[in-house]
Amino acid sequence: MTDLRVSFAELVTLLETIFLRFGTSEQTASILADNCARCERDGAKSHGIFRMQGYTDSLATRWVDGMAIPTIEDAAAGFLRVDARNGFAQPALALAREALIDRTRTNGIALLAIRNSHHLSALWPDLEPFAEQGFIALSTVNSFACTVPHGGHSAVFGTNPVAFAAPTQTGTPIVFDMATSSMANGDVQIAARNGQALPPGSGVDTNGNPTIDPNEVLNGGALLPFGGHKGSSISMMIELMSAALTGGHYSFEFDWSGHPGAATPYTGQLIILINAALAGGAPFGVRAETLIDQMQSAGVSRFPGQHRFANRKSSDDLGIALTTQELNWLETLATR
Ligand code: NDP
Repeated sequence: MTDLRVSFAELVTLLETIFLRFGTSEQTASILADNCARCERDGAKSHGIFRMQGYTDSLATRWVDGMAIPTIEDAAAGFLRVDARNGFAQPALALAREALIDRTRTNGIALLAIRNSHHLSALWPDLEPFAEQGFIALSTVNSFACTVPHGGHSAVFGTNPVAFAAPTQTGTPIVFDMATSSMANGDVQIAARNGQALPPGSGVDTNGNPTIDPNEVLNGGALLPFGGHKGSSISMMIELMSAALTGGHYSFEFDWSGHPGAATPYTGQLIILINAALAGGAPFGVRAETLIDQMQSAGVSRFPGQHRFANRKSSDDLGIALTTQELNWLETLATR
């Protein structure tokens, strides 16, 4: 139950203190605190402050290097690589962001392949700013083996999210961001914490039998891909794009057993950027509005991103909703 409100700036400052306390550089603390606070502000609860336990455990067990300095490589005119050097993916993106935009303006399209990186957040914070600048952006991340490929009997894929962002004429970008498993792992953890059952068809237990118990999925069981063989193929593509193409690990390739509590998958991220200003015919933003109008005429009232944008407005107007318990927990982490 929500009983207090904090400003975005207050939450960022508190989260920065925690990241610094757990051994990140100032730049990484600032980037991750901003990212995590954005998720909380937008009501993306599975990737807001809920994730601070995973971040701090991964840092405390030295699974991830909070002081890592990423390096950029110029692979081709439209192909940049970043080695995150066992650090977080977001500072790696920050390093290459302007170069990626320059290459996209020059070539019409460019891609950024981040490897040796840890991504524990949502993807929309990475992409939405690109769409606000007039670019179409697509990103994939693989995670850790917790999803059984369609027709298989054991986990190979991660929850493997894909996100897409595109500009519109009115300024509010179109953004979707979704796991390709039946649900995000963070939501399974939240369901377990709250004693809630999962929707049927979400996962299997340790023997491969269907289960709606989140604890059985988390303890030896696995998730299923969304949409049967179709979701499974998209998840396979995400493994190839985020690992084979970037040079990072597949979801099943890294071993974090020596770092109990570690929660940040050590994999890769791919970002493809397209210059929407080069679209043929009418401006891309105008054409995007045409599609939205048609969908609305067909009865659609809920668009991807809409839930977040509504939460964002409420948080901007009233402050970010936290419980006293959550704030106390964060303050304890900040002084640990
Ligand atoms: P959801 O299923 O909640 O939402 C997926 C997308 O669909 C969102 O863009 C959402 O918009 C939109 N949406 C939801 N409901 C509707 C509806 N009724 N009509 C139209 N659009 C709708 O997301 P997931 O649970 O699959 O993923 C949650 C997050 O987990 C993602 O941000 C993803 O990046 C992250 N994740 C991160 C991983 C990592 O390793 N870093 C691994 C796996 C997932 P809206 O936001 O407005 O609700």
